[in-house]
Amino acid sequence: MELGQFSFGVGDRFGQEGRAQLAAFVEARRRGVTITPVWNKSNREHLIVKTDPAAVRAEADAAVAALGWRESYFVDADHIGLSTVDRFLTPCDFFTIDVADFIHRPPVDAALGEFVRANRKLCGAPAIADLSVPLRLDEALLIKIGRQYLAAVQEAGRVYRRIAAARGAGRAIIEVSMDETEQPQTPAELLLILAALSAEQVPLQTIAPKFTGRFNKGVDYVGDVRQLEKEFNDDLAIIAWAVPRFGLPKNLKLSVHSGSDKFSIYRPLRRCLEKHGAGVHLKTAGTTWLEEVAAVAEADADGLVFVREIYSEALTRLDELCAPYAAVIDIRRQRLPGAATVAGWSGADFAAAIRHEPGAPAFNADLRQLLHVSYKLAAQRKDRWENLLQRHADAIGRQVTHNLFERHLRPLFV
Ligand SMILES: [Zn+2]
Repeated sequence: MELGQFSFGVGDRFGQEGRAQLAAFVEARRRGVTITPVWNKSNREHLIVKTDPAAVRAEADAAVAALGWRESYFVDADHIGLSTVDRFLTPCDFFTIDVADFIHRPPVDAALGEFVRANRKLCGAPAIADLSVPLRLDEALLIKIGRQYLAAVQEAGRVYRRIAAARGAGRAIIEVSMDETEQPQTPAELLLILAALSAEQVPLQTIAPKFTGRFNKGVDYVGDVRQLEKEFNDDLAIIAWAVPRFGLPKNLKLSVHSGSDKFSIYRPLRRCLEKHGAGVHLKTAGTTWLEEVAAVAEADADGLVFVREIYSEALTRLDELCAPYAAVIDIRRQRLPGAATVAGWSGADFAAAIRHEPGAPAFNADLRQLLHVSYKLAAQRKDRWENLLQRHADAIGRQVTHNLFERHLRPLFV
């Protein structure tokens, strides 16, 4: 299985918007750009919404059949590890192996010794074109990087072998993710991570490093855009150099997680991709749920009552809802409107506060982030919520498609 040059991960917490999501890819295709849709849902989301990976597969297959999509598409076991991969093995054909928890675990001495021996040939100043700063490697740096990353790479190898044993070699797209960590990887680190993954025979087609700045869920990038562009360029240069030398899959590309809504980096990102002729995988962060909330708020009185109820409860359970997402949200509590204020809002007011139209005066990024992590509260009222989703399917679907195509696929790829 091979992942195309451009691929885009969509999440759908309540599993109702598969067709509306795919319609955005159909529109891009109509304009001459093929982007591979990948439906992703993490184990955490499955546990919260009480769904099964097989449901994501069914949703994807149904959407593809309904819209007559003839290009490839995948279902991603998002952020899995050895303890969670099993129930994804049959329904999924894309696996995001998350080894961030294994970074900084010391490897065994023999493995570290082997890593240093195998990579000594890279020491000195390997001539890698297009790096912002020429790379310099020595044995001390090899040891340091091995101590930091080798255990994580070995864990990726173990997870990959479990997948390959169950599905057969070549029967899955493999991504390795190290994004949920504190520090961005340097070019030297990325190079050696790729060398080690090659030695572990992990045929990864995408890698998700940690980038500089904040990739908060559902809102724009926060950080130094120029630094990010430089890092992105460096990473592309490293990958281009590493692929033929380490025998990695030719289509290996970067994966950008929580990439939805990062409007301020799309132009630089596109510039980097064009410069290198590179591809990218970009994952959205379950923001289809927010499109649903906005559309339901506007749709009718029941919808507005429901979303107000969710929001008032979210305010009282803020710490609990935010805790699992602490590293990927930044909510300024003083900017959250009180429940009494929101009780006076119309559906249109509510929608305007959370819909991500940059520069729109009513937009409230703090409210949007809080609602983003509040899908659990809708999951606890699943019957009522699904009833609203079904009743307003057309209006919601239009917004889901519009959000994906106009705000994401178009600026990035079309
Ligand atoms: Zn991620």
